[in-house]
Amino acid sequence: MIMRLAVSLISLALLSGVFDSGHALAEHHAGEHAEAQLTLIHCGSLLAIPGQDPMSKATIVVRGERIDGLREGFVSAREFDGAVTVVDLRDSFVLPGMIDCHTHITGEMGPGSRTEFVRMNDAQVALRATTYARATLEAGFTTIRNVGSRGSSAFALRDAINQGYVVGPRILCAGRSISPTGGHGDIHGFREGLLKLPTAFQGTADGVDGCRKAVRAQVKRGADVIKLTATGGVLSQTNAGTDQQFFDDELKAIVDTAHSLGRKVAAHAHGTTGLNAALRAGVDSIEHGSFIDDESISLFKQSGAYLVPTLLAGKTVLDVMDEKPDMFPASVRDKAAYVGPAMMGSFGKAYRAGVKIAFGTDSGVSVHGTNAEEFALMVEAGMSEADAIQSATEGSAKLCGLWDEIGSIEYGKFADIVAVSGDPMEDITELERVRFVMRSGNVIKSD
Ligand SMILES: [Zn+2]
Repeated sequence: MIMRLAVSLISLALLSGVFDSGHALAEHHAGEHAEAQLTLIHCGSLLAIPGQDPMSKATIVVRGERIDGLREGFVSAREFDGAVTVVDLRDSFVLPGMIDCHTHITGEMGPGSRTEFVRMNDAQVALRATTYARATLEAGFTTIRNVGSRGSSAFALRDAINQGYVVGPRILCAGRSISPTGGHGDIHGFREGLLKLPTAFQGTADGVDGCRKAVRAQVKRGADVIKLTATGGVLSQTNAGTDQQFFDDELKAIVDTAHSLGRKVAAHAHGTTGLNAALRAGVDSIEHGSFIDDESISLFKQSGAYLVPTLLAGKTVLDVMDEKPDMFPASVRDKAAYVGPAMMGSFGKAYRAGVKIAFGTDSGVSVHGTNAEEFALMVEAGMSEADAIQSATEGSAKLCGLWDEIGSIEYGKFADIVAVSGDPMEDITELERVRFVMRSGNVIKSD
């Protein structure tokens, strides 16, 4: 309970940071906008609270950056004094802005991505990431949780968005993944001089003391959430497998230190032993979760941890292996061949058993802005359309500790609103064709 309280206090502090920045900016234009801008959104269908039935013909009242209320029917601007903007979505299906809990917003997998850390400086990485951020937001993802980036670029991007210099989603930022030396988050396959670059090693930690210090260092840099690599992973260029890499005492040290600082912990985990060890250590989410067994399911249920499946990453790597077999060395191809196909079955098993699911894509492995392709894979693995939408709204908002602020269209929450043409409960791929995006009351996209 105390931990939960601490986490929600941090979330509030975090959001008040977002709110304050918006305020500071609004004051620049105090002459023009003495009153918060009033917007009426006329919705043909409105899924205000995922999990409940959609309403037909409804109006969302938006004041400034927040939702001021919902009304039945199409309310006229004449009911209000002063300037009112009306957004006509009478031919659309409207739902809350979507949330992706697993992105890598500062890069994108490609033939040259592996050597970027010696070619590009943090400023170049951050400036390029502004285009990824815009693509993600225009795809309807109004909040992302960025679980691993090198250097300070993701922090700079988050802060520039909060301050209004750059258009992008709200970002919860983990900084660098915490990995054991030689583990999945470390650098592999370069000559020794490059392996010793200090920036490459930020987040690398061994032993209880080292793990505590690594968490504190990420929080000091500005991390909102802590990411660790509990097991090996597919894309690290080492043949070290995909099972447990941190020892139990190291996992516990990372989780306890993060929680003592009010940060949740996201654990990259494929292999069963490492995945279950991470759950026993008390992580808040398992990312990927490729090999879930019955014990994992009972551990998920005991701890209340979420699964963030990232099926799109598994599919993307297998697709790239088919198209460009030379892009990965044998060590990566071997791991992808058994991990990729396992993810769907593992996710389906966890979902049917009632494990809590939050939405995540590993975007950066896949192309930024194609995040919604994850939905069709979730449905293919056996999840209902309604539950898939709930995972990307309520589930993800709760995992991020932001359910009081985002994830549904209700009074007082941020006005993060998207629209598509048809009912995504009938065709989930509608979410791949977002026509309208509002983020904190600002219209970002309107087709
Ligand atoms: Zn990832």
